[in-house]
Amino acid sequence: MLLLTPGPLTTGPETRAAMDVDHGSRDPTFVALTRRVRDRLTALATPAAGWTTVPLQGSGTFAVEAMIGTFVPRDGGVAVLVNGAYGQRMVQIARVAGRHVVAVVADEAQAPDLAALDQVLEGDPRLTHVAVVWSETTTGQVNPLEAAAAVARRHGRRLLVDGMSAFGALPADVDALGVEALAASANKCLEGVPGVAFVIARAESLAGAAGRAHALSLDLHDQWRRFEADGQWRFTPPTHVLAALDRALDLHAAEGGVAGRGARYRANLAVLVEGLARLGLRPLLPPERQGPIIVTFPAPAHPAWDFERFYEALRGRGFAIYPGKLTAAPTFRVGCIGQVYPDDLRRFVDAVGTTLAELGLTPGDAG
Ligand SMILES: *Cc1c(COP(=O)(O)O)cnc(C)c1O
Repeated sequence: MLLLTPGPLTTGPETRAAMDVDHGSRDPTFVALTRRVRDRLTALATPAAGWTTVPLQGSGTFAVEAMIGTFVPRDGGVAVLVNGAYGQRMVQIARVAGRHVVAVVADEAQAPDLAALDQVLEGDPRLTHVAVVWSETTTGQVNPLEAAAAVARRHGRRLLVDGMSAFGALPADVDALGVEALAASANKCLEGVPGVAFVIARAESLAGAAGRAHALSLDLHDQWRRFEADGQWRFTPPTHVLAALDRALDLHAAEGGVAGRGARYRANLAVLVEGLARLGLRPLLPPERQGPIIVTFPAPAHPAWDFERFYEALRGRGFAIYPGKLTAAPTFRVGCIGQVYPDDLRRFVDAVGTTLAELGLTPGDAG
């Protein structure tokens, strides 16, 4: 079964095999493994000095929640650019953490509203931070990180990035952008297994964040100090998952790092979009805002359309896809990430063609 979904996603046999060892958390081998993974992740984010990575047990949301809780002061606040479910989730996280939050909302099919952000920052001095989703997995839209960073910089605010489904495949230098921290996880473009997430941050910002976090287990400052002191995790580390991530980072480097990984995903995207267009299915987003991570397709406007049957039939042919996450119209999503290659996408396009015919949606009807 190929998972054409943005997490959990298809992993490689070597990555899974790396989990076949039990590591003691205090064992020097594991302490060195943790150090190595932290350094490799930092190096993927920027060549600049003064940056560090704090890994955290859990799925990606745990890291986003830890980032907001650790960096936004209790008497500060965050303006969140929202154009999808993951932006909305950061708003919810900030509310639960009791932080002042302003949602700057744009339509899911549109770019973030930077003019509105500009006004909001102008009028609300309590807002110390701006938060943005780099690749909004709700639709597959890549948000303009540089432009958002420029607005934050102009107003002297700090920028927090949910880089979950972009980090490792889309290029950016967090130091040059003026980012304060970026959250991501093992099980997106790095193609590790689920169970560990991480925040890449300026060490100076981490040092200044003592006592801010609203939850002990999500306190990145505290975990960072422990790593710096003796290399240890505060609580039971996901040892097998970290070993798999270390191996996945080898494969990432062997593929040519961020550039190589991004190139394969773009090749996957091209096969997918061209193939489904021949079947009358076209992406929701225009090409200039469509990222190479996941694609949202509006469902065929045809009475015979039935997502559940479509999903089950594709599953029977060895492919798992995603339901749409849009509130407005029925859609479905197909991921381009994980251990999948253009040939897999070619087979997928064929499977979609067969399935549409089976459902009574012949190619000519599908658009
Ligand atoms: C996957 C993802 C997350 C984290 O989701 P989890 O289910 O907690 O792993 C957060 N933000 C974005 C943009 C994502 O794609």
